[in-house]
Amino acid sequence: MTTRVVRHIAELTTNDPSLGDHSVMGRLLDAALVHDDGHVLWVGRDDEAPDADEVLDAANGAVIPGFVDSHTHLVFAGERSDEFEARMAGQHYDGGGIRRTVEATRAASTDELRATTAARAAELRANGVTTVEIKSAYELTTDGEVRLLDLAGEFSDEVTFLGAHVVPEEFGRDRDGYVDLVGGAMMDACAPRARWADVFCDRGAFSVDESRAILLRARDAGLELRLHGNQLGDTGGVALAVELDAASVDHCTFVRDDDVLQLAASSTVATLLPGADFSTRSAYPSARRLLDAGVVVALATDCNPGTSYVTNMGFVIALAVREMGMTFDEALWAATRGGATALRRGDVGRLAVGARADFVVLDAPRAAHLAYRPGGAVVQRTERALR
Ligand SMILES: [Zn+2]
Repeated sequence: MTTRVVRHIAELTTNDPSLGDHSVMGRLLDAALVHDDGHVLWVGRDDEAPDADEVLDAANGAVIPGFVDSHTHLVFAGERSDEFEARMAGQHYDGGGIRRTVEATRAASTDELRATTAARAAELRANGVTTVEIKSAYELTTDGEVRLLDLAGEFSDEVTFLGAHVVPEEFGRDRDGYVDLVGGAMMDACAPRARWADVFCDRGAFSVDESRAILLRARDAGLELRLHGNQLGDTGGVALAVELDAASVDHCTFVRDDDVLQLAASSTVATLLPGADFSTRSAYPSARRLLDAGVVVALATDCNPGTSYVTNMGFVIALAVREMGMTFDEALWAATRGGATALRRGDVGRLAVGARADFVVLDAPRAAHLAYRPGGAVVQRTERALR
């Protein structure tokens, strides 16, 4: 077992309130950190750092926990930049574009999907992501969803079955037939390959009753629950997520006061995806309103080819700070510990002794440069534990 000491950290964010300044960020200045192949062994002042087998010099840069991107649709073929261009030019987006990605993904070979997913996963990692959730959802057949989940599993342990993304073309108006398939044979084949089940519960997608039926079947099949809700309208997804004790309800662009109160009293995280609001020119949700009510907020990229082709968590943080009323520290916490909470993980998103040694060295003296220099090359090095 090799040990390594990371020296000369100008500003270390641990997200452990028992450390450093004892704020929620657990921040230390002039710090060092020791880890082995898997976990953090020691955190403290640089001038008190113990010896280790290897030394990594942070060169007076800031160090943060690796980002936990708790919402992506990473396995897909094709691209839809023309839709983005049209939308930016003022044409209405009706949500029908998912079917186009389904067509391209069904037509792609497994090797092709593996190569493009690997490239996107590498891009996320280069931008500081060390834990990524990956959903299926672009084949919408039993064999196809199985194929996508198996591919997702090559890149992450946080794999999500999202058969209920849209009703595929071939089902025409037979919504019930598709809901029965997703909750039946497709669920049976997919559940052993995933940790999570998700449903796109929204206008133009699945109703609250359809979503509830699918998610209850998922729970019976041993899956944990998360939900896309209230992105396109005030459609009841948040209340359903709370009712089912889902780990997270994602988007939350249109929420009522009673949704906010219910979320605050629950253990369901509100995951905000400002890359999607940016890319669809939608109103941003008010993170401030959620935070002030006591809701736990996470930030994720929602990386997908239609509504958020975003792989940069620094950009997501910058949007959250600029457009959603978050302080920088709230946004950094939401992109690290918040994402971990949305995945019900205690071992990532923080840098306390015993946590996974997943961290990012920044080419900046303070982590705030992630929002202060939006789009800049602030991430210098991403380190992910081997086991
Ligand atoms: Zn999504």
